Amino acid sequence: MSRFVLLAVLWFLLPSYLFGQSYSYQDTRLEGLYSIDDTAAQEIIQSIVRKLPQAQRELVEDIEVVWTSEPFNVIPSTSREQNGKRNIYISQIFAHGLHEYIQAVLVADLLEEPHFTEAWLEAFGLRLHSRVDWENSEIQSAMDPVSFAKMHPEDEQRFRSEMTTIVAVLYQSALVEIILHELGHHVEGAFYNEGATLAEANNAERLADDWANNAVTSWSEEMFGLTDHSSTLGRVFAIAYSVEALSLREASGLEAVKLATLRGRIETSEFASMCDLQRYVQEVGWVCDGLAEWFLAHLFVPKTRLHYLERADLGDAYALMKLGNFSWLAGELSAACNYYYEAWQRPYGDSVLSLRLARCYDLGLFSMPLELSRQSAANAFCAASEGGWLDARERLIDYEGLLEDPSSCY
Ligand SMILES: [Zn+2]
Repeated sequence: MSRFVLLAVLWFLLPSYLFGQSYSYQDTRLEGLYSIDDTAAQEIIQSIVRKLPQAQRELVEDIEVVWTSEPFNVIPSTSREQNGKRNIYISQIFAHGLHEYIQAVLVADLLEEPHFTEAWLEAFGLRLHSRVDWENSEIQSAMDPVSFAKMHPEDEQRFRSEMTTIVAVLYQSALVEIILHELGHHVEGAFYNEGATLAEANNAERLADDWANNAVTSWSEEMFGLTDHSSTLGRVFAIAYSVEALSLREASGLEAVKLATLRGRIETSEFASMCDLQRYVQEVGWVCDGLAEWFLAHLFVPKTRLHYLERADLGDAYALMKLGNFSWLAGELSAACNYYYEAWQRPYGDSVLSLRLARCYDLGLFSMPLELSRQSAANAFCAASEGGWLDARERLIDYEGLLEDPSSCY
């Protein structure tokens, strides 16, 4: 029988005690998001914990999982306080992003667009950490990878109906993996801080992963008489998401070390055994097909200016936007604006480009008559406001006389 069927039965039978807090979104920034049920993950963890040797079980039962409201790209961590209190911190926004990211990977696979996840994740993170109108439909559709993909309505419908279960299973297994991994840090005493070398960090991560692997393996063999690789599949998604989220900006210090250890953990993942699951659940088969290749090819490419130049040559609008950002950060404002302009002219250009272009016109960074520049700024602020960007909406007042019908910008 499928292990997932067995788990589905378990989800309803087990009591809960490990999670101190219920999993819901209270933060006002998350108005546009829905909450995700993590009951299954909680109950699998509890079931695994009950099978641990007594000393480990006692240690683990003292650990509290704290759900924070840190940004989407703050990866889970663990701490042991001086008073002996042990915690695991997981950002609710990180977890939400992970759930959506799993869909994004599946969409990327369906559309055969390997760079889709990066473009979607940036759009997602940008909106979460900007001032936006959550009621706006463009903002909402950027938060949902399926809408963001603007796929054919029939594909979208098919995707939504076929993928619900597999996304739920992968998400729950990723969450199980994340928590077990963090428990592993505690049980093995495998901690490291700022200033740790890559070798020290890799060693601690390996101990945590090995502990998590052993815990799941002995549990699944005892419970179901088979070796469970599904949680390692969840791990790959959790790591891939962490890598992509951290790679959106330049990581430094401890974060750079963490990024390197994450990549190392993907490299050592046993894709072959994870894909054995195909025997049990047919749907997982196509997720596994080419998964290893996709992750390795996609997550190990340094996201340098050269990388985006190569992509821009092939007409990738997102790469043009990234080149604009590189130039802007380097103080080359006119060059940045030219990239934004080029990106904006292409299909799938993100609506944030209107905001960036408005800023370019507003600062007079294109060589054109002042009057034309002001008119273009007015139009671009209007378009950005229409797309839900509140910074643009506030600037409309400066350009009021230039807009035929300012009410169309809301
Ligand atoms: Zn770790």
